[in-house]
Amino acid sequence: MKQSIIIHAGAGKHRASLKDVDRIVKLAVEEGFKQKKNGALDMSVKAVEVMESSGFLNSGSGSVRQDDGKVRMDGSIALSNGAVSSVLGLPGCWNVSLICKTLLSSKNPMMCGRQLKHKLQHLGFNELEPDLESYREWFNLGQNSPGTVGAVAFDGDTLCAVTTTGGRSGVEAGRIGDSGIIGSGSSANSIGAVSCTGIGEAIVRSRLSDYALRLMDSMNPMKACQESIKKLEQDIFDEGIGGLIAINNKGEIGWAFNTQEMPIGFK
Ligand code: ASP
Repeated sequence: MKQSIIIHAGAGKHRASLKDVDRIVKLAVEEGFKQKKNGALDMSVKAVEVMESSGFLNSGSGSVRQDDGKVRMDGSIALSNGAVSSVLGLPGCWNVSLICKTLLSSKNPMMCGRQLKHKLQHLGFNELEPDLESYREWFNLGQNSPGTVGAVAFDGDTLCAVTTTGGRSGVEAGRIGDSGIIGSGSSANSIGAVSCTGIGEAIVRSRLSDYALRLMDSMNPMKACQESIKKLEQDIFDEGIGGLIAINNKGEIGWAFNTQEMPIGFK
């Protein structure tokens, strides 16, 4: 069975140069793929962790701020065995991929806000150092804050999707997007796994990751991604902007986006 991984670094025009983003994406794919003996969960979490720690993307240390000047992160993991975890509105900059991985085996795998922050401090997680330069530049750009990160992987048996983000810059404090919502930002079943990026409100309204997953019953991942973008545009008109990546249980991959850029890497 073919083991594979595909990752994205967010849909839209990036703040960092494409050269920098491509370098991070390439490193993330390599590091993720090295985990293949440990399985799809470790493959996708490692790739996302590398991107979160880079400071170049809108997740982890490069996360953008909401309109009260604070960062609140979202993220999720979905596995083909039915396990899921999610983080919503977590204050500060974190490796949310690692937090979601830990939550998978917890009694309460979906957590939010300040209570989660206290739990993490108790568990020994450390906040990442924020990338202040990114904050300033991105905040001035208003809503334009691409750089959400995601990965989907297949290890020959299990499929996994991971998505994490700082959300959208300048939005109302407490807003959450699609990235922490299973069935919208991340989905997985025995057929495939999907991770989405773009305008979260639109992605949630069209339940984009679940929609793509259903199409994969009868289509390859590439076709399913292309059809999903059409649905996003048809359903949501002005705000149907984004992209997605997908993988199936044959190790085939796909991606599609309707923005200027969506850096991807795969192996
Ligand atoms: N989907 C993310 C959100 O709305 C942002 C993005 O992917 O660019 O929070």
